[in-house]
Amino acid sequence: EAKNNGRNNYAFYHPGLTQRAVHHLTRERELHHALINNEFLLHFQPQFSLINEEIIGVEALIRWKHPKKGLLLPAEIIPVAETSRLIIDIGNWVLREACKQLHQWRNDGLNNLRMSVNVSIRQLADNNLQKFIAKLLHQYSLPAHSLELEITESCLQNELIYISCLEQLKKLGILISIDDFGTGYSCLSSLKNLPIHRLKIDQSFVKGIPLDKNDCAIATAVLALAQKLNLQVTAEGIETYDQIIFLLDHGCNELQGYWLSKPVSPKQIPDLIRDFPDQFTSLKS
Ligand code: C2E
Ligand code: MG
Ligand code: MG
Ligand code: MG
Repeated sequence: EAKNNGRNNYAFYHPGLTQRAVHHLTRERELHHALINNEFLLHFQPQFSLINEEIIGVEALIRWKHPKKGLLLPAEIIPVAETSRLIIDIGNWVLREACKQLHQWRNDGLNNLRMSVNVSIRQLADNNLQKFIAKLLHQYSLPAHSLELEITESCLQNELIYISCLEQLKKLGILISIDDFGTGYSCLSSLKNLPIHRLKIDQSFVKGIPLDKNDCAIATAVLALAQKLNLQVTAEGIETYDQIIFLLDHGCNELQGYWLSKPVSPKQIPDLIRDFPDQFTSLKS
């Protein structure tokens, strides 16, 4: 609170900051309105298993169908929402929508599909999250292991409170992965202490594979570490076949990126999943 007051006082003397504060409040109100008006939707990006050679999961990514500006990306939503309780309301909407969609796909014959949902740190700290997720799993008859939460690494530095939240979630049987791995500050010790199941190598390190020596070194090290710690690894931001070869050689389990598919609307997913194995085989040869 003291910090907020300080900021407001400061803004009083600096019209630029006031303007920014007003803009922020306006955006917050717009987001609230968007939630009530049902202007959010989810796109889904396939996750490909190098072991099964098939698409085994999808990641839900929020979009905003803005009445004037068209389809907006998470960068226009999440950072503002994260500064208030709004992220919990939006996050719960995303969780419910993702579970509802997964239920439908599983009924339509995609029996083993897994759903990954991004979760903000503020949602983790919400006391009701575990109960909310338990309710969704029940309501949509989903096995707990079909739901995975993705948590961005930078949030998790040494925060004991989050470790206990994650323990609670883990008790439900859902999977937990660390997103954008390598970009945060976290400490290798958190890998030992957190109840996690998977690391997602950030796309910034995947980008330079196989030509950039540093990117290759980082990816190789993460893969070796994960193997020792018994963690799965997904590489994000796959755009070339050479990246796949390198990652496959170094023990990567799963891939995600434009090379496979950009995030798409839900109605495109079933065909994409059914047609992909053939596509992969023909691309491989
Ligand atoms: P993320 O979880 O790391 O998701 C991957 C982002 O990389 C997505 O951007 C995706 O479109 C993009 N991407 C995937 N493959 C490629 C590729 O091959 N090349 C390139 N250049 N980009 C690729 P998007 O949809 O803009 O999402 C950005 C971030 O917003 C996400 O990063 C995630 O941290 C956050 N986010 C998205 N949806 C939600 C949500 O429902 N809740 C929360 N808390 N955060 C969300
Ligand atoms: Mg993610
Ligand atoms: Mg990521
Ligand atoms: Mg992220």
